[in-house]
Amino acid sequence: MESRGDRSTTIMEYQGLVDAIGQSGRPYNMEMIRHAYDVAAAAHGDARRRSGEPYITHPLSVAALLVDMGMDSESVAAALLHDVVEDTGVPLSRLKNEFGEDVAHLVDGVTKLTRISFSSVEEQQAENLRKMLLAMSQDVRVMLVKLCDRLHNMRTADGWPPQKRRDKSLETMEVYAPIAHRLGISNIKEELEDLSLRYLDPIGYEEISSMLDRNGSAKQFITNIANKIRERLAENGMKDCTIKKRIKSVYGIYRKMFVHNRSFEEIYDVYAVRIILDTVGECYNALGVIHDMYHPLPNRFKDYISTPKPNMYQSLHTTVIGHEGIPFEVQIRTWEMDHMAEYGVAAHWKYKAGVQGGSKTARLEERLAWVRQLLESQRDSDDAGDLLRDMKSDLLPEEVFAFTPKGDVINLPAGATAIDFAYAIHSAVGNRMIGAKVNGRMVPIDHKVVTGEIIEIITGPADKGPSRDWLNIVTTGEAKNKIRNWFKKERKEENIAEGKAALEKEMRRNLITIPEEDYEAFMNEIVRRQRMNSVEEMYAAIGYGGIQLSRLMLRIKDEYNRMIKEKDPTVTFQIPAKKQKNPDGVIVEGLDNCLVKFAKCCNPLPGDRIVGFITRGYGVSIHKKDCINVRDDGSDPRWVRAHWDESVKEEFQSTLEITAMDRDGLFTDVSATLGEMRIPIHAINARKTSDGRATVIATISIANTEHLNSVIQKLRKVRDVINVERT
Ligand code: MN
Repeated sequence: MESRGDRSTTIMEYQGLVDAIGQSGRPYNMEMIRHAYDVAAAAHGDARRRSGEPYITHPLSVAALLVDMGMDSESVAAALLHDVVEDTGVPLSRLKNEFGEDVAHLVDGVTKLTRISFSSVEEQQAENLRKMLLAMSQDVRVMLVKLCDRLHNMRTADGWPPQKRRDKSLETMEVYAPIAHRLGISNIKEELEDLSLRYLDPIGYEEISSMLDRNGSAKQFITNIANKIRERLAENGMKDCTIKKRIKSVYGIYRKMFVHNRSFEEIYDVYAVRIILDTVGECYNALGVIHDMYHPLPNRFKDYISTPKPNMYQSLHTTVIGHEGIPFEVQIRTWEMDHMAEYGVAAHWKYKAGVQGGSKTARLEERLAWVRQLLESQRDSDDAGDLLRDMKSDLLPEEVFAFTPKGDVINLPAGATAIDFAYAIHSAVGNRMIGAKVNGRMVPIDHKVVTGEIIEIITGPADKGPSRDWLNIVTTGEAKNKIRNWFKKERKEENIAEGKAALEKEMRRNLITIPEEDYEAFMNEIVRRQRMNSVEEMYAAIGYGGIQLSRLMLRIKDEYNRMIKEKDPTVTFQIPAKKQKNPDGVIVEGLDNCLVKFAKCCNPLPGDRIVGFITRGYGVSIHKKDCINVRDDGSDPRWVRAHWDESVKEEFQSTLEITAMDRDGLFTDVSATLGEMRIPIHAINARKTSDGRATVIATISIANTEHLNSVIQKLRKVRDVINVERT
């Protein structure tokens, strides 16, 4: 139990760390720690903190905190080195060479956590962030170093400008203190909360501090009680007990007063004594003694020994009324429970004193053992399932967390892809997805999401829709359902419209004209003969290819002839034999006069080698032969040969992505170049990218591939242009 005023900011020197290590009584790898100090001291050089102290005092203080916590040599070395990669540019490879994989891995983890910063976040987002930070520090020691780093920064926050102080306090309160709580490190959690509160609500903080000071006699009161308890326990055969006196944290009181709306007097655990004993049996004996000495308040007894808290906290709690009429809390626990309460997950290293490092598998097992132990102790609890999920996501790599460019955290199962990410944002984003960027770089849409990535989903037009192939790529049920729903719902409308249009076109082509007053009856008869339920159903079936139009036309002609004969028995209807030129300029082998669409993935132009795909919707989609979506290996009969009809001269649209070093006038130069070549521009826009570059996207009219290539050549010659690509 540290005294609350102990936030000394005396200048920390290497000797201070050596002293802390000496006091710990544990063996440390002093050679490695000295070397870590030397590297850090050299790297930070003359750099100073805002307060004016040499910068090296900060890593030294963080290292000492880790020694206090009972952490191992690797953690202490990593603490000394935790800012050198980010702030001084010492390469990670050097740390790996000189300190080994473990230390380098820890420093890398802390560096990554440090790069993530946010001010105010909503509750759900804060929870996701906490999970994400924990997941990013797969080795929990990363988080312990980070917590000590944050603790020292908060202790010395007076040197920061006010805005930074508030931002960091909020972040500490919303993210880091709850993580410390989750890991069971109560002393760090409480200090982080108190330090943050001091900046977030200085008036509230002062009010409570002064209330605690005013009760100066309280210290005497609690000391008297501790002495009496010690005496009685000794009389009852528990001579070796340790009693700690405790005053509730400022923030703990603040919460009860302002969140739970209690008055100071209604808080029964402002004062507490903690009795620490050797065995669980002694704990229950001591409880009996306490209840014999003092009158217990009803409903205040809690047995966290038989039912530990989710963060493994174990203790007996009871509230009793002292002889002066002031209530106080008594906490009774064993030494092991006390270590666990103060150091949480860090207590494992404390108990493993003497073991330096250890293999990766051993550590993993330890982590698993911890989770298992936790689950075991939670078997009776109702929310064991939730807890399992929570803890797994915290410490086992079964979930990944990634950012949207706006900073929202998206939580996905491990193995999820960029498409899953898009659907997790919103089904509309998924349905319109055409590509993805990770940390500013284009990736394939089946990119597997890694925790900590910033993922930007690039979307196309609203009616773009997913691809059926995606069903084999996505891993989340959410994305699968959303894709299937799209095909069911969106495509249904589209299928009906396409089917109806196709049928009408085919009927016109065959010169079948049905008087309006007969149309419904005629169609209903066709529907009946097709054994279908409605005209819509039939249209939809034509649309998605469930009914072959050529077959249906036989029926229609048959029925049409019957209808005409009914009206005028002398007429027989004949099919016109004339062949039409395809208006789209593409000839698909074996399919006359079919509806042709140009695939959006590769946007073929006259001159490109092309291939057709008979879609499940009506029509043939034309891809470039080398398009990544083409699987024209003969296994699927839906791929058909196609070529350009040379007799057709038409203009095509093509979109170019021009990457250049950003500068004034770039946009003008690009559009002027296109203008000089008399290229019609349909759309053009530019945006800066994060790496000092700019991207200009231009959609232009083009006659054929040859023409396009000459445009690209010309654009490449524009000053500062790095690359021109057809998208
Ligand atoms: Mn730091």
